[in-house]
Order: sequence, then C-alpha cells, then structure tokens
Amino acid sequence: MPFFLISPAVRASRAGRGVASEEERCLPASALSASTAARLKPPPRPMRRLLPRKRVVSGVQPTGMVHLGNYIGAIKNWVALQDLYETFFFIVDLHAITLPYDAPELSKATRSTAAIYLACGIDSSKASIFVQSHVRAHIELMWLLSSSTPIGWLNKMIQFKEKSRKAGNENVGVALLTYPVLMASDILLYQSDLVPVGEDQTQHLELTREISERVNNLYGGRKWKKLGGRGGSLFKVPEALIPPAGARVMSLTDGLSKMSKSAPSDLSRINLLDPKDVIVNKIKRCKTDSLPGLEFDNPERPECKNLLSVYQIITGKMKEEVVSECQDMNWGTFKATLTDALIDHLQPIQVRYEEIMSDPGYLDSVLLDGAGKASEIADATLNNVYQAMGFLRR
Ligand code: ATP
Ligand code: MG
Repeated sequence: MPFFLISPAVRASRAGRGVASEEERCLPASALSASTAARLKPPPRPMRRLLPRKRVVSGVQPTGMVHLGNYIGAIKNWVALQDLYETFFFIVDLHAITLPYDAPELSKATRSTAAIYLACGIDSSKASIFVQSHVRAHIELMWLLSSSTPIGWLNKMIQFKEKSRKAGNENVGVALLTYPVLMASDILLYQSDLVPVGEDQTQHLELTREISERVNNLYGGRKWKKLGGRGGSLFKVPEALIPPAGARVMSLTDGLSKMSKSAPSDLSRINLLDPKDVIVNKIKRCKTDSLPGLEFDNPERPECKNLLSVYQIITGKMKEEVVSECQDMNWGTFKATLTDALIDHLQPIQVRYEEIMSDPGYLDSVLLDGAGKASEIADATLNNVYQAMGFLRR
C-alpha cells in the first residue's frame, strides 16, 4: 500500500534544520561528539509519513459512448487525483443492467471504457483499474446491506422516481430501485474516504453515508467484538469530493440540459472517440444565439457560457485569457477555434486508445491486476461484515 512520500522540498528544509542525513545516521555513535550525536538524533517521524493516503473510488457506467462531460466532469479529474490519493477506478458494469440494455454490447463497452481510462492518462501503476463484476464482493455486500436499508429510503431517490416514471412504473426492474445499495457497497467495501460525485449523485452518496452509519450502529463496536471481531466501525463514513467549478458540461443542443450518454440525439454530445469530421459537424450545428460578441456570465446565454467553458478547460487557459481572446469573436470564428482545440486535445487520446485496443493482452493484464488489488481490500471488509452479522464462516 503506498504511503506518503517525502517531497524534495521537505528534504531541503530538513537539511536547513540540521537534521541528519541517512549517511550521517549510519555512523557508529562512538564516532560522534555528544553535541553532534544530539544534533543527529533522528527526529520524530512526521505523522504524515505514518499515515496511508486517503482512498478515492469512482466509476463510469459502460452504457454508451464516453463523452466530453464524463471526461471533464470525471475522468480528467481522476488523472490528478491518482497522484494525491490511493485510487480505485472501475467500470461499473453491474449498474449498466438496471434499464434494458444490449447484452452482446456490454462486454465490448466495458473493454472500451477501460481503454478510455488508460488513454486519458489513468496510470495502472498509480491507480487500481478494474471491472466491478470481477470483484464478487460488490454483490455480496450489497445483499448484506439490503437487509439494513429501509425501503422508504430507496423510494425517496430522485433518480428512481424519474427513471421509473420514464420507463413506465410497474415494468421497471427491481434493480432500478435497489442499485443505490450497490453503489453504497461499491464505496464502503474500500473504506473510501472521498468520493468524487457530480450533482446527479449527491443524494446517493448521502444514502451511502446513512447506510454505513446504520450498519456500524447495528453490528459494529462492542457487538462485533463479542463475536470475535476487532470492534469499532465496520465502515468508514465517506465524504463527497466536489469536482472543480464549471465541470458540468451542457448539451450541445440545449445549454440548460446536461450532456448525457442517454440523451437520444448524438448531436447533443461530443464523444471522446468521435472522428474529426464528426466533431466539425457537431460544433457547426450546435446551438448558439444571435447576440454580438461572446461572454461567460450572461445568464441569458447558457450555450455561450458552456462552449467558452469547454474551450477554457481543454486548452488549460485562464478565464481572463479566454475572455480577452474570444470576447470580440463572432460565432463562426469561435466555432472554428473551438473545433481545432477539441481535435487537438482529443486526437492523442484517440491514438492511445487505438494502441491499447490493439493489444488485448495488455488490457486484460491491467484489469486482472486491478481486480486482484481491489479484491484484497474488498474481501477483508466483506469478511468483517459477515463476522459482525453472525454468519458461520468456513
Ligand atoms: P447516463 O445518461 O447513462 O446516466 P451519463 O452521461 O450521466 O450517463 P454516467 O456514467 O452516469 O454518465 O456518469 C459518469 C461520471 O460522469 C459521473 O461522475 C458523472 O457525475 C459524470 N458526468 C456525467 N455527465 C456529465 C456532464 N455532462 N458534465 C460533467 N460530469 C458529468
Ligand atoms: Mg448518469
């Protein structure tokens, strides 16, 4: 498990404080004067060195093409998080079956999503990348958690209400009601500290927190100890990690709706794997307005704000730079500039994606390795829960 590494800056400041180097500490004590020996006495280890890094988990469903919203709102941020935290990024295939889906497509979409993670810069030497269904503990813990989740809590979920209304109430699968418990299992199995969530997922994260507190109270602490366990909490209660502002990418055809895989029109989104001519066409046809100049902060111009924000994020420019560059442009000039920037940004990702997909052995080994690391942690949590809930173990 990775631990906090001492940065060069900390090393330099230690040298300035007269702290002993590794070589000095290796000298025999008899070779040192008393004052030097006192100076070289190893300092107490900073707490940060002893603590494991915080854990972060997140995933994307293999339900369609990964789009610019998923990239800017989720995957691009994960690339930075993998350097700061112990990270688990998985393809949430078990969630992809809550609504009717195309079975022959599921495994292809799962591989493709994994390859997109890698192509976008998720590094398997830093993060565990795996397929949710490859770690059996997710489903097992979900069942155990279900017994402690009141049905009233699930009936309140906005996504359930909206999606079941759209799909025709009585006909939706039970999984649409219970998948938030699977999401709780996805998070709690890894004793996660932080969960990056978009606005659409905050209610589910709150539910996860409530379930974890309830199960900790029902089965943790002294009750668990009496059954031979270590006592204390079975689960860490996770916190939401709010993505940077401006990370809600809106539809190309309606600046007030979020860009979505499930939106019926493909013209509403830029998919990460869209070829050049498709990007050119989608930006050419995207919704604009007839006001002069371009601006970020006019609430009457949601499309203008959305397209400028996308341009800012993918070019890595400051907002002020984008304002001075684009404020006097007309839509034709800006659309050409945005199209070029999108193609420049996405092309290297697409090239890496093709390389990864052309080497299935490599992708398989990344997913196997990731599932192995994930299973170790997940199984430890699951075993604790079985024990605390009183099951006879083999
Ligand atoms: P669906 O329409 O099937 O729900 P989706 O486009 O919402 O698909 P998900 O797989 O549900 O994609 O979400 C994966 C991640 O991408 C989540 O962290 C979610 O918050 C984020 N995300 C999805 N759409 C956007 C968006 N338009 N802008 C920013 N982040 C987004
Ligand atoms: Mg979604």
